[in-house]
Amino acid sequence: MKDSIIKKFSVREMDAELFTPFTISSGSHRSLENVIFTLEAAGGIKGFGEAAIATHITGETRARTVKSLARAGQFLEGQDAANYLGAMCRLESALDGNRAALAAAQMALLDLSTRLQGISLWKFYGGRAPRLKTDITVVIGGAAAAYDFTLKMRRAGFRIFKVKTGSDRDEDFRRLEAVKKAAPGCAVYLDANCAYGAKDAEKFIRELALRGIRPRVLEQPVPKDDTDGLAYLSRRLPMPVCADESAYSLDDVYNLIRRKAVTAVNIKLTKLGFLRAREVWALARAAGIKLMMGEMLESELASAAAAHFSGGLGGFDFIDLDTPFFIKNGGMRGASFLSKDGIYSLDRVKTGIGVMPRGGK
Ligand SMILES: [Mg+2]
Repeated sequence: MKDSIIKKFSVREMDAELFTPFTISSGSHRSLENVIFTLEAAGGIKGFGEAAIATHITGETRARTVKSLARAGQFLEGQDAANYLGAMCRLESALDGNRAALAAAQMALLDLSTRLQGISLWKFYGGRAPRLKTDITVVIGGAAAAYDFTLKMRRAGFRIFKVKTGSDRDEDFRRLEAVKKAAPGCAVYLDANCAYGAKDAEKFIRELALRGIRPRVLEQPVPKDDTDGLAYLSRRLPMPVCADESAYSLDDVYNLIRRKAVTAVNIKLTKLGFLRAREVWALARAAGIKLMMGEMLESELASAAAAHFSGGLGGFDFIDLDTPFFIKNGGMRGASFLSKDGIYSLDRVKTGIGVMPRGGK
């Protein structure tokens, strides 16, 4: 048998505790509850993928994702990893309704095929930016907690703070002022996760400016279907207005760009899969739209895959791949190319993604 024929797969639930609940305006994660998908080729080389379950954002559940990945595994058994593209295309339609599973299956295929080829996923995607530094998220919560967290992470070397807003306006102001006080001179990104109307968002940004806080980017200020609201804010505000929940598919992004509704797009592999994510990158670059690389709540495995994708292609203005810093014992090994201050040194990875579950399953 050719050593690149996929002979086995496994689907396994992965649980990990968080240091602090990951709370945004639309919901909260108290622990990591993802799924690991493993492919093994006849020659013994393995590829790993991670499905990030974010039910409060995507509606996808873990039970359904486990079932989808079992189906994907049955389809992939007997396929040649040399035909990774053909397999990825087939998965696009088979798993279109379960994007977390799609991303995990494509991730495992790409990890396997680049390992067999003896190159890193970063090289495969073009090898452009050898190093990426992520921001760190300040979740929704009290001002005192935000101050302590920001101070701790600034001391650890972080310089960009992505502040979640959209719960209570006064609390949001206090949280942002606490971040400013704990990290003077550092950059602030805002992410409202759909919480405002367009006029309210504009008012909020103007009031922040009076308090000396000028976010570098405003992410998803309005509900996902409010294209007019995004367009209004893109015209009126000085900073890039970035679609995240509104940019769930390639057609979404195509329409947003065509209607001049956004000036930045957040690419997440869990929303788009690898093939459509690359198309979004191409459309955005051609239109002069700024790019953010984002993720759901993901361990080092999926976070590193997103880093390879964005660092390989290049041209990303905002890197938001910080969730490994929220997870206690993610159960991964090989992630030493991610430093304590949030730098992914992608040129240090020899083959594939370079991260694998401990125990190799
Ligand atoms: Mg977001």
